[in-house]
Amino acid sequence: MKGSKCRCRYATTSQRRVCPRCGKMMKPAEWPDEGKVLTFTRLHAIPAGLKDPYNLALVAIENGPKLICWTSGILNENDSVTIVEQKGNMFCSSRPDQTSELKDPVKA
Ligand SMILES: [Zn+2]
Repeated sequence: MKGSKCRCRYATTSQRRVCPRCGKMMKPAEWPDEGKVLTFTRLHAIPAGLKDPYNLALVAIENGPKLICWTSGILNENDSVTIVEQKGNMFCSSRPDQTSELKDPVKA
């Protein structure tokens, strides 16, 4: 997914020209569509516009931004997840081919 990054290490998935943290120009960046769960929150109310019960996870992309993602599943901290954007909302789901015990495969 596309985004922006700054020399001050601020990173975001939105296309920004000016860093909200330090005020310098940001550079375009391309983030991987996967990350790790930092925190997971079970919601007891269903957000408007969503028909299924959804939960919220804070997901960190490696060397990239942290994202608030909706998820229909139950996640644990450090789970590896795949992130998809739909209509401006981020959704994540756990990667089925992996248990939380395994390390990420080495990227080519
Ligand atoms: Zn900055």
